[in-house]
Amino acid sequence: MTIYDLHCHSTASDGVLTPRELVLRAKEKGVDVLALTDHDELSGQAEAGETAVEAGLQLIHGVEISVSWSNVTLHVVGLNVDPLDPVLLHGLARNRGGRTERARRIGEELARIGIPGAFEGASVLADNKELISRTHFARFLIERGTAKNMKSVFKHYLVKGKPGYVSHQWASLEDALTWIQAAGGVAVLAHPGRYQIGREKMRLLLSEFQHLGGTGIEVVTGSHTPDQVPVFTELALEFDLLASIGSDFHAPGEGGRELGRLTALPERCRPIWQAWN
Ligand code: AMP
Ligand code: MN
Ligand code: MN
Ligand code: MN
Repeated sequence: MTIYDLHCHSTASDGVLTPRELVLRAKEKGVDVLALTDHDELSGQAEAGETAVEAGLQLIHGVEISVSWSNVTLHVVGLNVDPLDPVLLHGLARNRGGRTERARRIGEELARIGIPGAFEGASVLADNKELISRTHFARFLIERGTAKNMKSVFKHYLVKGKPGYVSHQWASLEDALTWIQAAGGVAVLAHPGRYQIGREKMRLLLSEFQHLGGTGIEVVTGSHTPDQVPVFTELALEFDLLASIGSDFHAPGEGGRELGRLTALPERCRPIWQAWN
């Protein structure tokens, strides 16, 4: 059986392993086909690709694009993209553009409730200074003892209605799909079970995603509970979308899913790799 893991992060975004370390760890965990999907960033792809050749696993070039859709932040994964495509590179650079200013504002919001130095703290933890994410703030808050783990950070801070939340305008869904398609890739809606939207709005999203040329949704992901898997299997079939699988691994021992440690896609699903095999 081929083990696929089509969603994970390196130091090029908010992961803690370099692309090389990540690929070697995936190999060690038995992954046969890995997609590196850093947030709004492709700079880790060359190193990951070289290491994959050396280690003997298949690397799929990918990216996870931040999108604003109807007042919700969504993540769209592009798989099997050309990492040198100018349209995609230009779009991603634009999407990264607002991150530093946003991070400064997050720092100001945290300072207001008595947590100074958060921007500087998060910035030090970010290897890629163009890509300071909430994960870096979360690690800073854990380091200083403000919260005990990731789960508790994202329960009490950095999310809508809590201290350290700053709203932000990301790419439109249409732009994200256009960039992915320009780069020859397929668009996959990431961890749909994480979005706080009702059933009707989810259906509207899937319908719009499919009409804009979206190809798949993540059915098995580190973000889904076991009972969400059949729900998104049925929605994938209903909206004629292929199914993807990915751990969304960021760091060893941080509470997220380990590379390659996922249940298989349900039999009823048509797997996303049909789109490129
Ligand atoms: P950003 O793109 O800066 O808004 O950061 C989003 C990142 O924060 C996600 O990719 C995750 O790595 C992390 N994150 C968001 N919500 C959670 C959560 N509930 N638990 C753990 N990590 C989270
Ligand atoms: Mn992340
Ligand atoms: Mn995501
Ligand atoms: Mn992710």
